[in-house]
Parts: sequence; C-alpha cells; structure tokens
Amino acid sequence: MLILHEIFASLQGEGPHTGRPAFFIRLSGCVAPLCPWCDTKGAWDQGSETSVASLVSAVKESGHRFVVITGGEPLRQWETGLNELDRALFDLGVAVQYETSGKVPIPEGICGEVICSPKYLAGAWHVDSESLSRAHHYKFVACEETATAIDAFVNAEHLDKDRVWLMPKGMTREEQIERLPFVWDHCVTNGYRLASRLHILAFDT
Ligand code: SF4
Repeated sequence: MLILHEIFASLQGEGPHTGRPAFFIRLSGCVAPLCPWCDTKGAWDQGSETSVASLVSAVKESGHRFVVITGGEPLRQWETGLNELDRALFDLGVAVQYETSGKVPIPEGICGEVICSPKYLAGAWHVDSESLSRAHHYKFVACEETATAIDAFVNAEHLDKDRVWLMPKGMTREEQIERLPFVWDHCVTNGYRLASRLHILAFDT
C-alpha cells in the first residue's frame, strides 16, 4: 500500500523533461527538515492508502506513457509499495521519472529515472551523499544568495555539470523573469543547464 496525495495529468513543468505530457502520482509525506518555501505542503500529511494495482490501472486508463512520481518525498515509501510500483510500470513499458530531494537514500536498482533536487536549509545541504550518484539529473533553485553554495556543493559531490540544471528562484512569473538573466549568466560561466519552471510561467502558481 502507498499513501497517495493525488493523481493528475499535466505537462512536466521543469527539469530535463520540461514540456512532456505526463501522468503525475504525488505521494504523501515528507522528511525533516521541511522546507519553508514548499509549494506542496498539502502533501505533507494529507493522503489515503492506495494499492499499487489501482495506481497501475490509473496509469493504463490515462493512456500516458510517461509517469512522474513526486511528493512530498516519494522515496520514503520505497519499501512499503513504491518498489512494486516501480517494477510494475517498468514491466508495462512506461517511462518513469522520480522527483526526490535526496534526503532519503536513492535505492539501488531503481528502474525509473531519478531527478534529485537537493535542499539547502539553515546553511547546510540535506542529502544522502552516499546514494547521490544514483540520480540521473540534479536540479537546483538558484538566485544570487544561493549560487555560491550550489557551486560548492556541485564541486564537493563531484556532480557532472552537464546533468546539473538551475532554475530561477521565484513563485511568481515576475520573480522568475527577474532572476532569469542572473541564472543564465551563472549557467554560461559554470557549464550548467538552464531550465525554467514552465508551470509558474504559465499559471503563476
Ligand atoms: Fe516540500 Fe520537497 Fe521540501 Fe518536502 S523536500 S518540504 S516536498 S520542497
């Protein structure tokens, strides 16, 4: 059983699959420390028990061939059903992308693609460094105040810069656009990739 917050169909708004039609499975619950800027607070504690079989059926009925599994922190439910869902969707031939903060270990042998968004809180990174190399891509919300910390983290963890994506910080269209030139220049200087957050540009939320 998994604790599910919601399912919905949309476009992936950020990261390497930006703009790709996707079926979203948002699992409930996160792990401390929680981020004050979190835009999915409803997923922290609102959810209901849902079987793996019913989620596989929902994916089939949706007709989507790309599934984003997100949260909250989805990987905290790896041992209680997510591992079964991962294998079932792989067997179905569906492409799966996980959105994780990296605060919990990224499981060995995970079938889906893992996008890790490390969180910088109170002057420290909260990631499981041991399993960080299992992620396929790394996303950071960047601004003038966090760029130096991101650079130091990328270098300390020896991350492949071609798989590092920076997104301008901001929860409104105006904030995103305002920071875009700074983040653009920072990507050019450091060899990172630039990704906007299309859902915010489109809907300002
Ligand atoms: Fe929200 Fe993600 Fe932070 Fe959890 S890790 S509190 S879901 S932003």
